[in-house]
Amino acid sequence: MDLTGKVALITGASRGIGADAARAFAAAGAKVALVARGADAIADLAGEIGPNAVAIPCDISRYWEVEQAIANCVTAHGRLDIMVNNAGVIEPIAHLAEADPDAWGTVIDINLKGVFHGMRAALPVMLQQGGGTMLTIGSGAAHGPVEAWSHYCSSKAGALMLTKMAHKEYGDKGIRALSLSPGTVATQMQREIKASGVNPVSQLDWSDHIPPEWVARTLVWMCGAQADGYLGDEISLRDPDIRAKVGVA
Ligand code: NAP
Repeated sequence: MDLTGKVALITGASRGIGADAARAFAAAGAKVALVARGADAIADLAGEIGPNAVAIPCDISRYWEVEQAIANCVTAHGRLDIMVNNAGVIEPIAHLAEADPDAWGTVIDINLKGVFHGMRAALPVMLQQGGGTMLTIGSGAAHGPVEAWSHYCSSKAGALMLTKMAHKEYGDKGIRALSLSPGTVATQMQREIKASGVNPVSQLDWSDHIPPEWVARTLVWMCGAQADGYLGDEISLRDPDIRAKVGVA
């Protein structure tokens, strides 16, 4: 994929999938905007990538911060072609009857409202440009209950609906909306899941997880016409056909 001339904004770029996605998009020729709360981490990564990267500290649970981040991206790089709604959290892991209501709501603010905030702020810019690609990191948790993850499962189910909504409302106006369910990935989030000791995912061996670079390469692949058959839907990186098409195995 040659993304020369394109601009990609990646949320949750301070580590894990988002950091590798930023590297992959930059390697494909795109200019990148790195968004996360961890200002030092995204500044370090922008330094590593070079002049085609800009670091924009932002908490995606606050709409006004996301709106400003998109504006800063356009100021720095001139446009916005690809939005990667990747930032997300899983803690606090808790059973329904014991979950702290405020903390439960904070996960929704980040994982679900954060995706809405990204779409709401980016879509007008993309529509004005004539189109764009809206990628969101989904999860198998959107499709079935996982013990002690009521917040996470609910948020990912809602986020998948936002992808379908974006496709429904703007698919014929040049917006390519797609979700990616990566399977389990070797990142900080899986360390937190393992430490919880709750549910079968926490019992997985570290070697069961795929590397975040695979997810990053898939996100770049999703920006091309080869992924057009999946518009408005979710791609699963557990699917051997998708792995073969992307070239990860
Ligand atoms: P991670 O290493 O914990 O990274 C999460 C990222 O989200 C960090 O960069 C974090 O940065 C950012 N973030 C969290 N809250 C934020 C907020 N309020 N505003 C802005 N950024 C925020 O986890 P990961 O595995 O790479 O997760 C990335 C995405 O993949 C998530 O949506 C997750 O649900 C999804 N996913 C992961 C797996 C897996 O097995 N790892 C499986 C399925 C789906 P700061 O803390 O610096 O803000």
